[in-house]
Amino acid sequence: MPAFSDPSVNSTGQAVRVERHLGSAGIAVIVIDNPPVNAGSHAVRAGLIAAIDAISADPQIIGAVLVGAGSTFVSGSDIKEFSLPLMDPQMPAVIAALEASPKPIVAAIHGAALGGGYELALGCDARVVAPDAILGLPEVTLGMIPGAGGTVRLPRIADPAVALDLIVSGRRIVAKKALELGMVNQVADGDIRDAAAALAAELAATTGKQRIRDLRVRERDAGAYRKVVEAATRGGKGRPQVLEAIAAVDRALVLPFDAALAAERSVFQTLRQGEEAAALRHIFFAERLAGKVEAGNASAMPAKVAVIGAGLMGSGIASSFLGAGFDVHMLDTSEEAVERGRKSIAAIEDQAVGSGRIAASERERRRDRLSTAADWSRIGDADLVVEAAFEDLDVKKDIFRRLATEAAPHGILATNTSYLDVDALAAESNRPQDVVGLHFFSPAHIMRLVEIVRGAKTAPDVLATAVRIARKLGKIPVISGVSEGFIANRIFMAYRQQCEYLLEDGVLPEEIDAALTAFGFAMGPFATWDMAGLDIAWRTRRRLAATRDPQERYVPLLDQLCEAGRLGRKSGTGWYRYEAGSLRGQPDPVVGELIEDHRKANGITGRAIEPEEIVGRALGAIVNEAALVLDEGVAERASDIDLVLVHGYGFPKYRGGPLFWAGRQPGAKIAAILDMVASACGARFRRGPVERVIKSAGA
Ligand code: NAD
Repeated sequence: MPAFSDPSVNSTGQAVRVERHLGSAGIAVIVIDNPPVNAGSHAVRAGLIAAIDAISADPQIIGAVLVGAGSTFVSGSDIKEFSLPLMDPQMPAVIAALEASPKPIVAAIHGAALGGGYELALGCDARVVAPDAILGLPEVTLGMIPGAGGTVRLPRIADPAVALDLIVSGRRIVAKKALELGMVNQVADGDIRDAAAALAAELAATTGKQRIRDLRVRERDAGAYRKVVEAATRGGKGRPQVLEAIAAVDRALVLPFDAALAAERSVFQTLRQGEEAAALRHIFFAERLAGKVEAGNASAMPAKVAVIGAGLMGSGIASSFLGAGFDVHMLDTSEEAVERGRKSIAAIEDQAVGSGRIAASERERRRDRLSTAADWSRIGDADLVVEAAFEDLDVKKDIFRRLATEAAPHGILATNTSYLDVDALAAESNRPQDVVGLHFFSPAHIMRLVEIVRGAKTAPDVLATAVRIARKLGKIPVISGVSEGFIANRIFMAYRQQCEYLLEDGVLPEEIDAALTAFGFAMGPFATWDMAGLDIAWRTRRRLAATRDPQERYVPLLDQLCEAGRLGRKSGTGWYRYEAGSLRGQPDPVVGELIEDHRKANGITGRAIEPEEIVGRALGAIVNEAALVLDEGVAERASDIDLVLVHGYGFPKYRGGPLFWAGRQPGAKIAAILDMVASACGARFRRGPVERVIKSAGA
């Protein structure tokens, strides 16, 4: 039993302790101390029950404060435990104990109260939060619904439409907004323990317990509620956890409290053990593992960044750095190019202000941190140079040769090349240890993936610093070795190539795209290709033409499109036709004719191909190339490849990425799709060690 009398004793074990509040007589402080983020693990739950029992039984105690040690309240449940049978006591039992205690218990929240953490706070008699606190119920993003009363308690203190919106979106809400919405009782500027203790003492002296379970659900505005349901159903793309979250809040509005609570728990338990939740947990952990490198400590974080090239990527990259507080100097070869880049950055920032993501004052700060030039006069000031000039080896070699003499000696030299040999660029710089790839995806200010390309001679501290820089930008860093297209574009090339074979074999781009979006891809490969611009691939294909094995099966349709000026969305036509101003392409009979003519000219008879074969072959090509990439050491770990496909190429997150997906399929199915891929590729097919890789992925 916790000994309350000695404030210095961590009496319930490591995870929870009870202290006496020094300022308020008779108020105990229950401290959750489970570094780093006070996740609601089994030890925390057991400790909390013991602590609540102790204060309930102690006649000297009139009320308590529940607080997290360190930098946060409780940032969520311990997600690792979700793959296993949950050990008692579970979170609902802890919350039941809070509610059953005769003494008012006030949550004092700083940092994050998310998921089970916020549900714990909802079990308290009031919630006092620091101005920096963030609150939310992000369970749907992990394939579940709140399972400890979130869907039942929140609509009793917040408008049901607001509660539903929070639950289906998983949105995080900052303190002031949370107060406005009714999610918390008080925002306290000073010491939140003191404020919460004062409130607990006041409740003890006046109203006593203030349990949410005793409140009726808030009146709902039926129109607003219906709008949230409709938006969530559309936006959630029919994912089961979104539909179940809506059903759970619906139930909370009509059923007695305990019946709604029990139904919520039962759905939570089913979803928690389902495939989608497992896949989303896999991605959750993969994101945290990404970029972990054994060797090398990061050196100082750069403050001044120079971006070479003010085009599409240069501007997006510059915006990303400006948004993370860096000083940015962007240069190009002419005033016009620089001005275009400036305008692109301004447009990105105006949009951020317009949508409320940043304040106008922040936009001004970013503008002040940006400088531009049409020459290299200030390149020597930069701690980090990011080259984003044309994808042309000679252009980039020239730049790295120049950097050898003009960049600051301590500077890191990065390239945003999509395909080119980072080692060849590093060699030109005369300081290959300082050269690294920072491969952003387009649009660079939005896409979270960054491939950190480790050259043969990249110094460990440069690599580690590059990872830290990417994290500071809010990105997910995945380390890649040098290889044509690194991880993402190399796998994507194999995928697209298989899709080109499918065209030749009998189907149209729109049929392939439809099959793959039905599988869950955000966009089909041909729509994605049109969006990125076909000319990038065209240039690469021409570069590789001289060394291409004549035995390789090669489909020249893309080259023919480009030769006809069909470069994708930007030129109004590509694999699809784009009406003026439209981002969505329409199938174009011209493309169908081109494919048909190509088949005729080569004596190919097209056949009808079922969506199952389309998806099987496309995924087979991805999984096979992924196995090669991992086997060659280009990727560090299987989960990095899953991240790259999910965050770089719209692979459905709820399927966990291609290797996780493959690991959940019957072996015979994988063997069959690989056979199809092999026969489509012909003599030049190289089979990757798929079975071994899947096993190591531990799906
Ligand atoms: P872009 O044509 O839009 O921009 C390139 C810019 O570089 C132009 O403004 C050009 O004037 C400038 N430039 C050319 N030579 C220069 C030099 N010597 N010094 C300074 N500036 C110079 O091209 P982009 O799409 O922004 O691509 C840039 C790089 O990013 C390429 O290596 C590309 O492979 C890579 N990349 C592109 C994408 C994409 O989707 N477009 C995605 C990831 C990476």
